[in-house]
Order: sequence, then C-alpha cells, then structure tokens
Amino acid sequence: MLSESIHGGLRFFLDEDLLSAGFLGAFTTRLDLSRRLKEDPARAAEDRLLVTGALGLPPLSLVFAEQVHKDRVAVVKESDIGAGSIPSKPPLAESDALVTAQEGIPLVILTADCVPIALVDQEAGVCAAVHAGWRGTLTKIVGGAVQAMVRLGARPARIQAWIGPAIGPCCYEVGSELFTRFAERFVVPPPTGDDERLDLREINEGTLRDSGVPAENIESLGLCTACEDDTFYSWRARRDAGRQGLIVARLR
Ligand SMILES: [Zn+2]
Repeated sequence: MLSESIHGGLRFFLDEDLLSAGFLGAFTTRLDLSRRLKEDPARAAEDRLLVTGALGLPPLSLVFAEQVHKDRVAVVKESDIGAGSIPSKPPLAESDALVTAQEGIPLVILTADCVPIALVDQEAGVCAAVHAGWRGTLTKIVGGAVQAMVRLGARPARIQAWIGPAIGPCCYEVGSELFTRFAERFVVPPPTGDDERLDLREINEGTLRDSGVPAENIESLGLCTACEDDTFYSWRARRDAGRQGLIVARLR
C-alpha cells in the first residue's frame, strides 16, 4: 500500500511491501528532477543525486525519457542505464512509457499534474513507468505499456499498478472540445452545468482494467497535485517549472 515514507531524509510516497519484495515504485515530492529550473541548472543534477542516494541507487543510473505526450513505449536495456543522467547519454527518444525485465535499471517519469503510473509483475520480474497526460490517457498509453510487459513475460492478471499524484477532477476543468473527445471514447461523468471536468486518474484505472489488470491490483494515491501544491509541483496551480519523479526498478 502506498504510504508517505522518509528515506535518506527525503519524502516519498511508496509501497514498502513492494520494496521488501525487491522492487521500487517511488513517487518523489517537491524536489526537481527535471532540468527545467533554468535559473539554476546545477540544482537538478544535485537533486537527482539526493534521490539516488536516498533510495540506494547508483549515482547517474536513472533512465529518463524524452517525454513527448505520445504513445510510444520503450523497452529499456542495460546499455540504457544513465540515459538522460550521464551528460553524454541523451534521454530515450520520444517515449512516454519505459518497460524493462532487467534488474538494476531505474526507470523515471517526470510529471507536474500529468498522471504517473508504476506497473510491476513481481513473478515475471517485469516493471514499467508510464506518463499519461490527457494525450497519453486518450491514446491509452498505459494499455500499451501492459502489452509491452506481456511481450516480456508478464501476465495482466498478475500486474500491480500504482497511480501517483496527479491533477484531480477538483482542479481539472477542460474545454468542451476536449471533454467531447473523452466522452466519445470513455465513460466519463456528465458535466454539471457548464463545468466540464476530467478525472484522468480514473480513466487510466479503467484502461488498466480493460487491459486485464484486476481492479484489486490497482491502487491510486488519490492526491491532487494542484490541491497539494505545497507537496507536489503543479503546472495548473503554480505554473511550476519543476517536475517530480516516479522511479520504478527491479532491484534484485
Ligand atoms: Zn484539486
């Protein structure tokens, strides 16, 4: 079960049982893991080192993706370790979900309002980190990640999913055109008056269930980044340039 947890002096939301089983699925709080805080570029590198240190991961091992709000899933290999961390290694090109069956490869997804999702099949030793903003939610990238895991030996019925901090329906009012696109593709609650809102976390939960992941295997943290903007970065609430991270890895 996801709970707030301090590791190495840093605040995370993670599943301690999963950690005991040898898998990491950790959501960071306000500590910028992106390189977007342009006023101080060295700061992101330092914050990344704090996180790897706190979680007992080798420095410069984190694997980042060039997130482009599309539906490409990258299968990550040992040679990709440090992509986006080591200065000579760029982040994995045009990918919004990272999947691996190998141990010791920490997959990272960066968000501020978008939905971060961790997926693990403990028995198969396959894990994934998924970035689902509205575009990724609409194109069902989390379903694509489940399929990629299955190709690596996972079974949907065994996959566990953790949905992290993301903007909630309380704060995610959208335009009519976007609302209609979702309403055509998903079961979404009808708008109350002129107020058209989307619950991206719940829509992703539905896609996971449609992909064969049992409802009882899906846990949602249920915290809204815009409401909890003292804890998380939020683009909507604060126009934050920083990004929190989801880090997923098979540790042994
Ligand atoms: Zn909210």
